[in-house]
Amino acid sequence: MSDGALVGIFGGTFDPVHYGHLRLAEEARAALGLAEVRWIPAGQPPHRSAPQAAVEHRLAMLRLALAGNPAYSLDDSEALSAAPSYSVPTLERLRARLGAQRPLVLLLGVDAFLGLGSWHRWRELFGLAHLAVATRPGYTLEAGQMAPALAGEFHARRKHAAAALSAAPAGCILPFPITALDISATHLRATLRSGSGGSARYLLPDPVLDYIAGHKLYLADR
Ligand code: ATP
Repeated sequence: MSDGALVGIFGGTFDPVHYGHLRLAEEARAALGLAEVRWIPAGQPPHRSAPQAAVEHRLAMLRLALAGNPAYSLDDSEALSAAPSYSVPTLERLRARLGAQRPLVLLLGVDAFLGLGSWHRWRELFGLAHLAVATRPGYTLEAGQMAPALAGEFHARRKHAAAALSAAPAGCILPFPITALDISATHLRATLRSGSGGSARYLLPDPVLDYIAGHKLYLADR
């Protein structure tokens, strides 16, 4: 990988991973010219309730979903850490490893971006990475939807073309459109809980669905 190659970083609970996640990563890779996407599942996300599936299951499902794509890798450092999963320390570790000049691009959907103001040390994100914000059905990127501090950062940092990501190692916010897939892990878990695995089909990869069935995941109401 050359020094200037863009590295995508994609965090989430992935409980379970689904095609909304996979299309986001794939379309980001193609549209933003990312050399690779590092998937970083959270262990214990601080700003939401605990994931339903145990971390080893979420990692196993991600391995199945990402298999065969040489641009994707799985970083289990947050997942296996006992510390709460915060993006800033994770990005600091990556930055130290990849060097000060490498453009890092944190990938997230509009819903996640709108909640950014509640993230630990969130303003420091902009010194560590660019933010690429993918469209998601049901959410809009309007100033009225953002807390004032976030709206301020958005207006100061917003870019309109992917070329901006190569021009600096961090600091831009780039909204980008992706194929609208109204899939959420919350809805998938509810579908799976009802025992009708069949109706979750084609919303997530078959090997992941088979894994869920084989391990009887998401059946309990929790
Ligand atoms: P949950 O319903 O449990 O909150 P989720 O489906 O939103 O889960 P996460 O693991 O929380 O999945 O999401 C990881 C990232 O993927 C977030 O940045 C989120 O915005 C984005 N994302 C998830 N699903 C989609 C989708 N269908 N379209 C666009 N972005 C998505």
